[in-house]
Amino acid sequence: MFGVKGISSTSRGAQILAHAGELVLEVLSPTRCAGCERAGALICERCLDALELIDPKQSCCSCGAPFGALQCTECTGEVLPCGRCLAMAGFSGPLPRIIRAYKDAGERRLAPELAELMLACVEHAECVAPDRYGGMLTQADAVSFVPATAAAFRRRGFDHMEQIAQAFCALAGVPLLDALAKHGSYDQRALGRASRQAYAQGAYEVVTPVAGMHLLLLDDVITTGATISAAAGALGNAGAATVDALALARVW
Ligand SMILES: [Zn+2]
Ligand SMILES: [Zn+2]
Repeated sequence: MFGVKGISSTSRGAQILAHAGELVLEVLSPTRCAGCERAGALICERCLDALELIDPKQSCCSCGAPFGALQCTECTGEVLPCGRCLAMAGFSGPLPRIIRAYKDAGERRLAPELAELMLACVEHAECVAPDRYGGMLTQADAVSFVPATAAAFRRRGFDHMEQIAQAFCALAGVPLLDALAKHGSYDQRALGRASRQAYAQGAYEVVTPVAGMHLLLLDDVITTGATISAAAGALGNAGAATVDALALARVW
């Protein structure tokens, strides 16, 4: 009993020290909002309110665009070969800055915050649009993510979607499946639409068994849909039963 008590008081001491350390850091370098620099929270209430959330009752189930429920002007309805697509918000307002702060400025504490937003998005969609997005999360066998290129991994020092997916799975209680490997090292941001689509074809390799599985695939931003389409297609070709996609943002 004494040993147990000793351990618990030691770990409590460590917790207090860690908390004190956080407080000192907070005084020296206060947390600022990734969207607007205001001190206080990583994503402030004002920036959360400013997100241009996409209504899952109106969106395009194929590419995640906000107004494509009947006929989508952003895609031909064939973005995802065996699943649906849902995006949380438009790539506008504070969201581009928040995503840049996470991916390129190394604010990794945003991973759980962004995961929480993605989880809230899919839970909301399942609830208000069950005929369109029902089961996307609740019937998923596992969650996977679109991996970074080797070059992006070297530049950033981490795989940004892997960290979000880890936090997402911990919150949702769904297994994480590290199923895809990315080949090639081009930065797609430098490529035009046609080259992006050509380049994305065949760029992903499935590295773990996925046969018969219902998967939820996470990515940050959907622009042309070429990346998510190639990644989901690779999983489908490897035998996944369904591959739905969930993104933080949709450019249109
Ligand atoms: Zn803000
Ligand atoms: Zn569409």
